[in-house]
Amino acid sequence: MDRSEGGKGQDQASTPAGGGSRPMKPGSEAPAGTTGTGDDLCPACAGSGQVNGAPCPNCDGTGVVTEGIGGG
Ligand SMILES: [Zn+2]
Repeated sequence: MDRSEGGKGQDQASTPAGGGSRPMKPGSEAPAGTTGTGDDLCPACAGSGQVNGAPCPNCDGTGVVTEGIGGG
């Protein structure tokens, strides 16, 4: 019997190749423009956009992240 290995080629790993347009920042809860969300200071870098002299990975160095409004 002919037995082909697997059905899928590559599983989409959660590893951004870097570059290109990202749908949203790692620290954001929703894409920009989503209803009920707004820009907020990044809690990881306190809005400075940098952590230890390097661009904050949480907000991509922007200092702001998109988070849901209200709730708490
Ligand atoms: Zn940040």
